[in-house]
Amino acid sequence: MALVVQKYGGTSVGSVERIQAVANRIRKSVQQGNSLVVVVSAMGKTTDTLVKLANEISASPCRREMDMLLSTGEQVTIALLSMALQELGQPAISLTGAQVGIVTEAEHSRARILQVCTDRIEKHLSKGEVVVVAGFQGVSHTDILEITTLGRGGSDTSAVALAASLKADRCEIYTDVPGILTTDPRLVPSAQLMPEITADEMLELASLGAKVLHPRAVEIARNYGMPLVVLSSWSDRPGTKVVSRLPQPRSLQGMEIAKPVDGVEVDRDQAKIALLRVPDFPGVAASLFGEISAQNIDVDLIIQSIHEGNTNDIAFTVVNRVLQAASSVAEAIAPSLRTHPAATDEAEVMIDRQIAKVAISGAGMIGRPGIAAKMFKTLADAKINIQMISTSEVKVSCVIDEVHCDRALHLLSQAFDVDLSSQKEITQNQYRGKHPPVRGVALDTNQARIAIRHVPDTPGMAAQIFTLLAKKNISVDAIIQSQRCHIINHVPTRDIAFTVAQQDVDLACEVIAELDRQIGCGQVSGDRAIAKLSVVGAGMIGHPGVAAKFFAALSQEKINIQMITTSEIKISCVIDEVDAIKALKAVHEAFGLGGKEQVNLTA
Ligand code: ADP
Ligand code: ASP
Ligand code: MG
Repeated sequence: MALVVQKYGGTSVGSVERIQAVANRIRKSVQQGNSLVVVVSAMGKTTDTLVKLANEISASPCRREMDMLLSTGEQVTIALLSMALQELGQPAISLTGAQVGIVTEAEHSRARILQVCTDRIEKHLSKGEVVVVAGFQGVSHTDILEITTLGRGGSDTSAVALAASLKADRCEIYTDVPGILTTDPRLVPSAQLMPEITADEMLELASLGAKVLHPRAVEIARNYGMPLVVLSSWSDRPGTKVVSRLPQPRSLQGMEIAKPVDGVEVDRDQAKIALLRVPDFPGVAASLFGEISAQNIDVDLIIQSIHEGNTNDIAFTVVNRVLQAASSVAEAIAPSLRTHPAATDEAEVMIDRQIAKVAISGAGMIGRPGIAAKMFKTLADAKINIQMISTSEVKVSCVIDEVHCDRALHLLSQAFDVDLSSQKEITQNQYRGKHPPVRGVALDTNQARIAIRHVPDTPGMAAQIFTLLAKKNISVDAIIQSQRCHIINHVPTRDIAFTVAQQDVDLACEVIAELDRQIGCGQVSGDRAIAKLSVVGAGMIGHPGVAAKFFAALSQEKINIQMITTSEIKISCVIDEVDAIKALKAVHEAFGLGGKEQVNLTA
């Protein structure tokens, strides 16, 4: 007999008929011999309706009362579903998050799960009852029991947390699409179902805009090795498996907060090539990386900073072995990169062999801005200057001077309590098996870009900025420092740009403006009219040409790239918001991800 945790999303339980259909499905699974814990969301658009109601009363309702309000949505569904099961003759009992003992931190509207008590659920299961649990909610770990919620879309996280705590055989997430697709089928009708995806890839996709799974649900599945499958509640098709590597043993206490970093890595075999003052128009990145890929050269990190005037800087790293070849391509292409055909000012190529990449990794970094800030601070305290920063959901990498490499490794492993003896240098692709270079494409239109000009180029600046933002709980993605140095009042300075969620942009600008007043850098500006388009695939490591193809697809549509950031398994471009859907379709098509047959959209 298998113990299975199932989760049904809002549309799947959106009406009485749907609740009855779900009850039938559950009954069938029990008859097949399974023991079932079922997590449900609020019916249909209930949560949105409740948010609207609150906003009619207050423009900024207090987070405690919002949790009190929003948690009622799920409570309706658990009662109705239990009744429907009982009508079928299936013993069932509904429980709220508090009744189960889903204990969270005392952070309203974005609480992380600390632990899930399983005694009560196990007692009901042993009596042959189906336990129906309200998703998205918990109770704070204080004397006075406070209802908390996990953040929008958080029922997925409730389900996987329950599954991990109960040591269930698997967790099934039922939704309104057939599984995880190559992109959102509501935006690109030719999107295709994928039978399987690695947890690391899904973490990236989920955090970069694919809302089919809550990223924190994927994080828990990855950390505890919980088999996870996403499938349609309308059909009996197998859906998509999210596969995790065998996890290191991990306590169930402090589930979402303990040990956010579980790896510290260093890569000495890196060299940096930077092109300064490349013109800011569509097609430049495409032609540069097109040439590089034509030589079969694999690039690792790519960064394109915010433009200044009408030029950009593009920097990338390669392994030392191909530095000569890559720099020849850059040198050859530089003369053609002029801001204007008549201009004499051509791009300048800078090469640096003396670099190394240090990185921290771990799934618990999601939505926890303090972690990256702590890495920057650790390096800053040791007077190690950061030359390039690249962030992904599960990794923050910094390019530093090679001479500081050993010291950085030692200090970071101490700071994050990571045992170095179990770590290896990054020398090989850790994603074994065959993976496509690009598994899926995600679009995030809820991001804004912040640019800070003329930040003094001394160790500690990134640490200061990101520590301040972390204190306000603002998560930052795609951090980029310009390659170019400006001397302002005899001090070398660089520009820094990064993206944040749109809702955080005003607060972030305020925080930085305050810092500006203290350290005296140039102006801060925020731009909401951007979109972030990303391609994700574990197979892109050691597969030259993915970046080139991505940039070429945008260039063909005459779409300008404002920023580029990469991690080992993703490439993101910031573009103008008006181009977002056109860009998504073009890139999805360019990687041949579309199919002729459209998937069935149930709602
Ligand atoms: P639920 O209420 O079941 O939790 P959600 O609305 O949260 O459902 O998530 C499912 C939706 O996610 C789909 O209807 C689809 O529009 C969207 N989506 C975005 N990206 C993807 C993707 N890559 N694959 C599948 N669905 C996606
Ligand atoms: N009902 C909540 C929401 O709409 C949680 C969820 O559905 O996952 O965000
Ligand atoms: Mg959802």
